[in-house]
Amino acid sequence: MNLSRLAQSLGQSATLKLNEIANNLKAEGKPVVHLGGGEPEEKIPRGALEESGKLLDSGFVRYTPTSGTAALKKEIAAYTEKHYGVKPGPRNILVSSGAKQAIYNFLVSVADPGDEVIFPAPYWVSYPEMVRLAYGNPVVVKPREGELLAKAADIEAHITSRTRAILLNSPNNPSGQVYPEDLVRHLVEICEDRGVYLLMDDIYNRLVFDGLKAPSAFAFTKKPLNDSHIVSINGVSKTFSMTGYRIGWSVANEALTQAMVKVQAQVSSCPSALSQAAAAGALAEGDGFVGALRDGLEKKRDVMVAELSRLKKVKLHKPQGTFYSFPDFSAYEKDSAKLSGMLLEKALVVTVPGVEFGLEGHLRLSYCGSEKDIVEGVKRIREILD
Ligand code: PMP
Ligand code: GLU
Repeated sequence: MNLSRLAQSLGQSATLKLNEIANNLKAEGKPVVHLGGGEPEEKIPRGALEESGKLLDSGFVRYTPTSGTAALKKEIAAYTEKHYGVKPGPRNILVSSGAKQAIYNFLVSVADPGDEVIFPAPYWVSYPEMVRLAYGNPVVVKPREGELLAKAADIEAHITSRTRAILLNSPNNPSGQVYPEDLVRHLVEICEDRGVYLLMDDIYNRLVFDGLKAPSAFAFTKKPLNDSHIVSINGVSKTFSMTGYRIGWSVANEALTQAMVKVQAQVSSCPSALSQAAAAGALAEGDGFVGALRDGLEKKRDVMVAELSRLKKVKLHKPQGTFYSFPDFSAYEKDSAKLSGMLLEKALVVTVPGVEFGLEGHLRLSYCGSEKDIVEGVKRIREILD
């Protein structure tokens, strides 16, 4: 077929594949319970609907500037100032088609072939393949036995002369854990010291429970944004329940941002004008939507934790944010792909195997769906395993 070595070697996105499997089973009328999802079930904010509606009504839906519309960048600047205490200028912001494209733009802009990009396990499923897509080498740092968060010293020990970036996702998909302040501070210090980029994947950073806050890397630097090695990635997919709009963004120093703008200009021109209008409407609506979403997710987290605690041999670190839990099922079955496949076949429950996130023995169970599904899904798992 004359496919490139890169295309042939690239793994599939396990999460997207499982979404498809769940949807197909549902379409066949099977009583499937989808605990593998990665999107809230809430409707989008009213402001999003109104702003994209206005643009649609105008009849003019055209290319926008590559880096995003002035209106959306203004909202992103205000959002960043409010939640991070840093005010980016228009040339520090790049709006992309999802946080995923923002991360890809970054990787292509900082890594030469063979350069290393470090991230701790458990990691979001796409990180290793995205690094490979940028012709880089993914370097995974495992947590210590029984833990879910790697130590800063262990991450530091993996830095070499070829390291270009460290990726940190906090709160974390899949574990739901928030990286502690000390770790973030330490990483900021070593990244600044060694000229390595620290990419903070903050896509879940407002979805944090129990009054906690996910520490922002910007809090630990004195450098102005244009001298900084910190890159923040965010978007409306999760916090505004707008996964289908495909809007994410990066905030970074101007030189890096403008390199990323060039990449995006050659790959996809600009994100959809309608989606950008919707995202600006969502951000302008303020915190009410996000607060309600977070409160609802916190309740569902409690339901998930209570249900999982009824399984005799599951070990769980209580999630502090996101809408994922990452229990350790290894006392039942060490091979997570085998266990996940068996639960799908025998119980019609969709879960994501821990091995896809770089940590065997675990399963990712989402609680972004209905409470009824959480209770029913875990009940079915219990009936099979206990
Ligand atoms: N980072 C993490 C950790 C995620 O879970 C996701 C999930 N989609 C993304 C980035 C990408 O988000 P988006 O939908 O905005 O591309
Ligand atoms: N990020 C979500 C997940 O991990 C959505 C799917 C994806 O983009 O991978 O399930």
